Amino acid sequence: MARPPRVYKTAAIVLRQRTLGDTDKIITLYSADYGKVDAVAKGVRRMKSRLAGNVEPLSHGSYMFAKGRNLDIITQAQSIETFQPLRDDLGRLSYALYAAELLDRATEERAENFTVYRLLVDTLRRLATRDDIDVVLRYFEMSLLTQLGYRPELRRCVFRGEELKKDKTALWAPALGGVVCMECKPVDVVLTALSSEALAALQLLQDGSFSEAAKPLDSGELAVELERYLRDAIHYALDQDVRSAAFMDEVRKGPGPVPQTPGAGIR
Ligand SMILES: [Zn+2]
Repeated sequence: MARPPRVYKTAAIVLRQRTLGDTDKIITLYSADYGKVDAVAKGVRRMKSRLAGNVEPLSHGSYMFAKGRNLDIITQAQSIETFQPLRDDLGRLSYALYAAELLDRATEERAENFTVYRLLVDTLRRLATRDDIDVVLRYFEMSLLTQLGYRPELRRCVFRGEELKKDKTALWAPALGGVVCMECKPVDVVLTALSSEALAALQLLQDGSFSEAAKPLDSGELAVELERYLRDAIHYALDQDVRSAAFMDEVRKGPGPVPQTPGAGIR
């Protein structure tokens, strides 16, 4: 665990914020050098705060911190990018907020992991600029599970350990951490049949680069099918659900009563 000096500076992305007293907020950031950090932004609820614009969720900036007695304090912030397209489009925004909440729930404070920081930056950039946002999110989910030690086993049957045969269907067993073959088929766990295309696509999400993984998911249909499997895997890995997922689902369902934006830092 990295122990920062009394004053330190790092690039970071704001995951969420919550109010503190009448004028302050507690900001949760995922930083390049120190992992997840909770810090106080003083005075940001006042009209003229210079910090306020840089501590909104999904802000990407360079932040200066001072060690505090309990929580560290954000003393300066400089914007790196605003991801404006995310803020202009409710669909993109709902996906990005989901990604931020998932990362927040899946990580411990002050556990440095530069790859995870990089993954979040790349994901927000892709969500802001690409049209295949379902594919972007699937890649993020699988990469995050892998990075945090919850990599699903997709090559061997998790029941007996034998290698899966190529081009065969298999069964998705998220509670066991991967797939089982049709021969084993344990009786007391929830199993979902996986087509050979779905299994191959999951394997590529796990082992391929983003562009390699995105290719077979071009049509978008498979990306939506994979959402179910990855949500199961996340549910078992974290032992909790990601609340913004419901907001994302609502937005995607399309016109209807306007869904409520989840409060900026309420969880
Ligand atoms: Zn088996």
